[in-house]
Amino acid sequence: MSGFDFDLFVIGGGSGGVRAGRVAASLGKKVGIAEEYRFGGTCVIRGCVPKKLFVYASQYHEHFEDAAGFGWSVGQSTFSWQKLIEAKDREIARLEGLYRKGLENNKADIFDSRAVLVDRHTVKIVKTGETFTAERIIIATGATPSMPDTLEGREYAISSNEAFHLKELPRSIVVAGAGYIAVEFANIFHGLGVETTLIYRGREILSRFDGDMRRGLHKAMEDKGIRIILEDVFTRIEKQGDGRLAATTMKGEVLIADQIMFAIGRRPNTANLGLEAAGVALDEKGGIKVDAYSRTNVPGIFALGDVTDRVQLTPVAIHEAMCFIETEYRNNPTSPDYDVIATAVFSQPEIGTVGLSEEDAARQYDELEVYRAEFRPMKATLSGRGEKMIMKLVVNAADRKVLGAHILGHDAGEMAQLLGITLKAGGTKDDFDHTMAVHPTAAEELVTMYAPSYRIRKGERV
Ligand code: NDP
Repeated sequence: MSGFDFDLFVIGGGSGGVRAGRVAASLGKKVGIAEEYRFGGTCVIRGCVPKKLFVYASQYHEHFEDAAGFGWSVGQSTFSWQKLIEAKDREIARLEGLYRKGLENNKADIFDSRAVLVDRHTVKIVKTGETFTAERIIIATGATPSMPDTLEGREYAISSNEAFHLKELPRSIVVAGAGYIAVEFANIFHGLGVETTLIYRGREILSRFDGDMRRGLHKAMEDKGIRIILEDVFTRIEKQGDGRLAATTMKGEVLIADQIMFAIGRRPNTANLGLEAAGVALDEKGGIKVDAYSRTNVPGIFALGDVTDRVQLTPVAIHEAMCFIETEYRNNPTSPDYDVIATAVFSQPEIGTVGLSEEDAARQYDELEVYRAEFRPMKATLSGRGEKMIMKLVVNAADRKVLGAHILGHDAGEMAQLLGITLKAGGTKDDFDHTMAVHPTAAEELVTMYAPSYRIRKGERV
């Protein structure tokens, strides 16, 4: 170590920050890490993990109903929101403990406090006022839910942060937005028996996804009983005498609900971090500006994860952290690879997706072959549930490369992970054709779609 208190100081104990800190410490570096809230960050504490637990909870009523078709009689069922929250909180506390332990076991110094930059090599621990110097500093402070700053009555609305800790399950909710969080929470609340409405400014939910997935999920959600309002936004929220909320929309409708939740994107956590003092530049979207190696404009200061507003996904933040380690501590310059990222929307049904949507591919390639199957999953034959699965491969006609794979239906997220490997490896439609099916599964459809359903030539369906 060369005259600094730490080799590395990490501000922010989420997925990216903890990974960078833990691995650096395991390599013998002297590491300090500060977190003002709870170790684990958004993903573990109030994001992916508790959300997925809520998704499981919200699916049971369908399992109970489906059981009848297979000969089971399930007695009367009841649901306790309080018990779910307690169980979820226990699991999150366990995971938070593991994050801490990983740091402690590798002898990182943990600071349960906000930390801010004083200059390019100095951080201040806000709780104690102590300052420490560090050869390298990583800012990994994540992002926070965007709220509609100028909307009258916005203070009555919640974000996903509060949704994880509501004292009571509302009887009704309106969710604003139609990205990952809005769609996932609309399905969670509906599944738990809440009267649910989703309101979105655009023409179809999930604007960045393949059209078939968007339309298919929209229909499935409406069939379940979720109301979806398109091309409308709130203009005012008021609290009524009975405590319920009344939201007026641009088109003049008044929606009455117990809760209103905004899920309209997340903005990087950059305020009051001392970035100006250290001279760290932001980009036009408000994220910390970094190069391909997560280096800010200030030598020695790095940023990774959601605070850089590159791709707001946990595995991406972890990947960026590992690239930092390779580059800075293993003498192996490595920049994150953002090409072909598989993701899932944990809606009900799920969407699993990797690569280009048909619409994006049509803009980039002269001719596409589109393979599409829509079918009733086997379980639905006896359960009687009127659900459909959609599977789709978007293929470049010139070289048969599979550009995009999209699935709507049960376990689509699990399938997307494996399809991600195939597409990352540059798999062609011929590779799919040569692959033996696993029978009987839903996924076998992916390797048995032999003839294109249609072609797209110069952007036009033929
Ligand atoms: P998204 O970017 O996914 O969606 C934001 C939604 O809000 C879009 O429908 C957008 O509309 C709409 N919107 C944006 N600004 C406004 C506005 N001013 N007024 C009304 N509507 C608006 O963000 P989320 O908040 O859903 O999630 C944040 C990020 O977290 C995601 O981008 C994702 O990367 C990550 N995430 C990932 C999950 C997963 O992997 N399963 C789960 C949850 C979150 P439009 O499309 O028209 O811009």
